Amino acid sequence: MRGLMMDRPLLISQLIEFAAEYHNTTEIVSRTIEGPIHRYTYTDAAVRARKLAKALKELGVEMGDRIATLAWNGYRHFEIYFAVSGSGAICHTINPRLFPEQIAYIVNHAEDRIIFVDINLLPLLEALKDHLKTVKNIVVMTDRAHMPAESKLPGLLCYEELVSAQDDKFEWPLFDENTASSLCYTSGTTGNPKGVLYAHRSTILHSYAINMAGAMGFTSDDKVLPVVPMFHANAWGIPYAAPMAGAGIVFPGAKMDGASIYELFESEGVTISAGVPTIWLELLRYCDANGKKLEKLKRTLIGGSAVPKSMIEKFDKDHGVFVMHGWGMTEMSPLGTISTFKRGEHGLPKDKQYDLQAKQGRPVYGVEMKIVDDAGHDLPKDGVAFGNLLVRGPWISRGYFRGEGTAAFTKDGWFHTGDVCKLDEDGYMVITDRSKDVIKSGGEWISSIDLENLAVGCPGVQEAAVIGIAHPKWDERPLLIIVRKEGSNVTREQVLEYFDGKIAKWWMPDDVAFVDQLPHTATGKLLKTKLREDFKDYTLPTANAAE
Ligand code: ADP
Repeated sequence: MRGLMMDRPLLISQLIEFAAEYHNTTEIVSRTIEGPIHRYTYTDAAVRARKLAKALKELGVEMGDRIATLAWNGYRHFEIYFAVSGSGAICHTINPRLFPEQIAYIVNHAEDRIIFVDINLLPLLEALKDHLKTVKNIVVMTDRAHMPAESKLPGLLCYEELVSAQDDKFEWPLFDENTASSLCYTSGTTGNPKGVLYAHRSTILHSYAINMAGAMGFTSDDKVLPVVPMFHANAWGIPYAAPMAGAGIVFPGAKMDGASIYELFESEGVTISAGVPTIWLELLRYCDANGKKLEKLKRTLIGGSAVPKSMIEKFDKDHGVFVMHGWGMTEMSPLGTISTFKRGEHGLPKDKQYDLQAKQGRPVYGVEMKIVDDAGHDLPKDGVAFGNLLVRGPWISRGYFRGEGTAAFTKDGWFHTGDVCKLDEDGYMVITDRSKDVIKSGGEWISSIDLENLAVGCPGVQEAAVIGIAHPKWDERPLLIIVRKEGSNVTREQVLEYFDGKIAKWWMPDDVAFVDQLPHTATGKLLKTKLREDFKDYTLPTANAAE
């Protein structure tokens, strides 16, 4: 027998209309590429999204067409999210930090029909002029006064002219909630980027999950500043979850340095934020150097790479900010786990709490997880065994765009994350490594993430990476690569002394190398493939002695 409830489709257009109706005065504030701060309400945003949807129709956009954005976090980008998906087309967000060849590859792979571009990113597209095979229109996200006087690209359209040519009498179409809504390519540290194709249903369900009290739990009292870009897994779902909760949004534009972010936090009274660890390293350093305190921020979600305990502690002690450590993947919309306290943990001593927060957290309802060994056998969730992490759930991909990368999906409906982790009885997950980064020493595994997290707690260390270096006896041994803090002269011996007693003896790095900077991927993760390449001829001091 089937239930007798309405089969009302879950659609992205409903989010903006909901916020416009019930949170009509709540503001969206943006630092614009042109310079000034722009502010308007959810109602204004909805009106302009409807107008833009009409303009898209006039440009011939149909259901399922891919419409790309090459843009920073701002109100026009926000309107495009709703106008495109709300029309039944697919909003393809492109990461401008990718190599130009990769951008050309994904535009052609997605067969993008229109590209919306921020004025300061236009040169990127101009350089690709002869490589964009399917693009019919390029819309520059600005007004007439700021349009470039000349461009190598013919027939550029002006965003504000498109919008102002329309009225807002527009009914959002109704369609199946499983219709594709947006497309995001993973940054592809190996091989070509692969497209993750989200649906309206998965996006709405993910927004509910984000808004649970044990997750980000936005309320209409919040002002949310996503430092995480709108091209990185849809800014982790914030542009959808915020209107669902009626939370205000503050978009940082192209300026994500410590000073600019700090200024917006304070001037706009931001209560909650989200971003990758490198952004926060920079912000904390800025606060230290300038004697500043985060007065208004209450919580921040940090993920994308492991968050060291020292960062969690610093946020709490210096700024009274609670770090929610999250883990996720583009393929998971992206939220998988989040570290907020459960019953009995609120009263724990601070240091114990920091230890819990340094774990990647517990799955949110809707995400199922298991770990398996290399033969695919289930491993216990006992906090000791570690293995390959598999996940499933209604906002997790079941295949990549155009059927690529099938090996990641099991026949019985699980997705291979490529991460190696432990799960414990309380449900906490601890990531050991990406499976390709784990260091294999004498048949045992050493977690590069654990060593990196420890290293950044050592005085004088700004950033650290650990990679495996070939070793005649042990197969691989860890090499610790360090960027010193400005003005620091921390030595190999001091770092190793700091490690002494904090890890098992056989985990001790065999050597320490110092560099001026570490390579990062387009989404801010350590680029280990490049480091392995840079250090491929490195000989560990222990190799000759073959200890
Ligand atoms: P990319 O940045 O490569 O486009 P994702 O953002 O989807 O792709 O990256 C997902 C991966 O990032 C995860 O599989 C995991 O390895 C890593 N990751 C994400 N969050 C964390 C975390 N909190 N701790 C450790 N690793 C993390």
